[in-house]
Amino acid sequence: MRDNMATPVTMTSPLESHDPATGEVIASFEPSRVSEVAGTVARARRAQEAWAGTPIEKRCALLGRLREVLFARRQEIAEIVTREVGKPRVESLFADVLIALDFAGYYAQHRRVRELLAPEPVPHHNPAMKTKSGAIHYEPYGVIGVISPWNYPIAIPMGEIIPAVVAGNAVVLKPSELTPWCGALVGELFGQSGFPPGLVQVMQGRGELGAALVGAEGVDKIIFTGSVATGKRVAEACGKRLIPSVLELGGKDAMIVLADADLDTASSGAVWGSFTNCGQACLSVERIYVEHAVADRFTKLCMAKTKKLRLGNGLDADTEVGPMINEQQLARVERQIAEAVAQGAQVLCGGRRSSLGPCFFEPTVLTGVSFAMRLMQEETFGPVMVIHPVADAAEAVRLANDSAFGLAASVWTGSAKRGREVAAQLRAGTVMINDALSAFGICEAPHGGRGASGWGRTHGIAGLREMLQVKYVDEDRLPRTPKAWWFGYDEKLSAAAERFVAFLFAPQMTQRWRQARGALGTVFRRGRI
Ligand code: NDP
Repeated sequence: MRDNMATPVTMTSPLESHDPATGEVIASFEPSRVSEVAGTVARARRAQEAWAGTPIEKRCALLGRLREVLFARRQEIAEIVTREVGKPRVESLFADVLIALDFAGYYAQHRRVRELLAPEPVPHHNPAMKTKSGAIHYEPYGVIGVISPWNYPIAIPMGEIIPAVVAGNAVVLKPSELTPWCGALVGELFGQSGFPPGLVQVMQGRGELGAALVGAEGVDKIIFTGSVATGKRVAEACGKRLIPSVLELGGKDAMIVLADADLDTASSGAVWGSFTNCGQACLSVERIYVEHAVADRFTKLCMAKTKKLRLGNGLDADTEVGPMINEQQLARVERQIAEAVAQGAQVLCGGRRSSLGPCFFEPTVLTGVSFAMRLMQEETFGPVMVIHPVADAAEAVRLANDSAFGLAASVWTGSAKRGREVAAQLRAGTVMINDALSAFGICEAPHGGRGASGWGRTHGIAGLREMLQVKYVDEDRLPRTPKAWWFGYDEKLSAAAERFVAFLFAPQMTQRWRQARGALGTVFRRGRI
């Protein structure tokens, strides 16, 4: 919630969209009421029932249309993202618009989607089950609730809604109260592309509305992206209703710089990874572990490059770092830095508010940190780079893994083999070798975390599967033959069962074959009942 609102905010207060660079109110939206949730979900259910029968070709064709609409409106969308979130316009284009366009294109490939949604034959290895043929069928859940944060207000919901609808679901989206304009835009884009009314609906509101959506009868699954604290509440509410969830939560991503890395590239990557979107990315580089041998040189490069960053309004083409989303978030970052400094950390550059406005904070580089500091344990979600020299890769891996989070990590090295070895030891949902963050923009790459970073996956095939439930369909090839394991239990069956088990599992082949005849008799036994 914004901390600069003068009057107390209630559930029915209009949702005001503020430009964090100027503080200006740029749009205002009527919030949906909690009492409207049931009706919205019922409308989604009706739309979904018809949609599930719509051929895949048609669903994919509509995604193709969505891509055209997104492309035609790309400049307007990028501008709205920048005005609501503050990020540089080029980042809005790259990390919101382009990613959304790419997802629409990826999931619009109907042959691929048809293959993925088609029943999957399941061969049986157990001879007793050879008399059956089976297949996995993938079916949509029905109505999926998508709850999204403010930091990538187009890319995140699009990356979840697109696979949900192509899989045959309807979606009710609750965007962040901080980015209602982008939320409204998402709904508008699906409507303009010709998706049936009710299939993708947007409910504007605050946390209470999100909670009502999770608790609503008729919502079959929740895809939640946000903080750990809210994620826990969502998981608890889903548990009460016994509905599944995907939780994409926070991160404390480590970057490991080995002595053989190209330091010029690694330092540029570190600066971008720490400060893109003003450090407000779940995949931001939050901790850097660099081998002692190169730590000094790497730190100097990072400092020099950080000092060159141009802070400003994201609408100016040469701005590299915009404002933070609000003063509340900025104050949190400031507190973490102050606490760390009080405990011995050193600020190498930045570390203070900028005179540009109340939401601007100078990109900051810190060193001299210890694990006990909140700065090293909690997500910072701001323009802060922390550099910590380590003896070797083993220490870097140990420290990187010593975190409740497990979203992503990166390894920087001149040797691909070394990179893969270190990647294999890291506890994270994604590890990038010689890059950071950008795996989020690879449609095919599953995105998600371990530990406090959540569960389940979005994006790629794994993300599409999350939108589907599995039904196993078994067909008996001998429909007139009663099964050996049906009733009619007696001494004879016990002996036959013994022979059958020995036939399947006795350690020696000779023992197995000795039981073969009796075992076959078991399969074709006629029961008493
Ligand atoms: P929040 O957890 O504050 O909010 C996320 C969404 O949940 C918002 O729409 C919010 O509404 C809503 N919400 C709030 N309370 C409830 C509730 N009780 N039940 C259901 N929904 C509720 O996160 P932020 O928006 O501040 O986003 C930042 C966080 O998101 C960071 O921790 C970041 O790491 C994480 N994130 C994770 C990503 C990932 O893929 N792993 C990607 C991007 C961000 P409202 O805004 O109205 O309060």
